[in-house]
Amino acid sequence: MRNNAYLFRLLAGHSADPHFRIGATAAQQTLRMAASSQHFRNWWQTRQSYGPLGLTNKWLARQGWQHTNLPWTWSHPLIQVVLTADPSTTTQQAAVAAAAAALPNFELHKVGDPSALGHHLREGWRAQRWAGFLRSNTRAAAALAPHYGSWSSVADRAKEASRAWNYVRMDLQAHVRAITTDQYISQLRLRSNQGLPPQPCAFCGALLPNRAHEWSCVALRTNSLPHPDLLFATLGWPRPNSRDDRDCLSDLAEVRKKVLALRYNK
Ligand SMILES: [Zn+2]
Repeated sequence: MRNNAYLFRLLAGHSADPHFRIGATAAQQTLRMAASSQHFRNWWQTRQSYGPLGLTNKWLARQGWQHTNLPWTWSHPLIQVVLTADPSTTTQQAAVAAAAAALPNFELHKVGDPSALGHHLREGWRAQRWAGFLRSNTRAAAALAPHYGSWSSVADRAKEASRAWNYVRMDLQAHVRAITTDQYISQLRLRSNQGLPPQPCAFCGALLPNRAHEWSCVALRTNSLPHPDLLFATLGWPRPNSRDDRDCLSDLAEVRKKVLALRYNK
């Protein structure tokens, strides 16, 4: 996957990812059948790599779910959930509970509540996208990885950034998408990408017009709202329920609009 595709997919959402939608539907069916039928659970012994169970196994692995050493039981380290298709005997149930307890802070989910199952599968998908971005060879990932290594540290911010795609003014939406998916290219970065020496900021004359400069350049910004933290200063992801963050992100979108207008002489 291209580096910024992880963030684009994450913010575009699971419903825009057909591989997720189809796989999740099939996986939920398989897990629910296993939870309700001993006959179906017997497939674990003989049909792990083909048929519905084989597909579910492969799909879950791609979403970051790992087999435990127990039948019909997976764990997802990024969201700290153990998922089990409801083992039938008390021995199995005790074994699953012990396996979950051995992973500190993991939550055990027994397949049975369909909405909770869907929630865990979606969270696993989101966490996997964020982990993919953190592993990408980009400056943004290198800056954020030490501080925002876990999905839970950014989950509410990702959801807010995703909402921002729609709540900003129509003419700013493409700019907000670019900013929140790490596709912002500053004047300095463009020159560097083209193998050219730096030029001063065309708007204020500052010597090194990198992203940090442009996002606070007095000639580009129309308000003086600060970036609340590193996550905002890097990807513009607003804090939930913060009117200031929303306004600041809209202002950064205006900044990008001006920088691109100059770049393409519009
Ligand atoms: Zn400037």
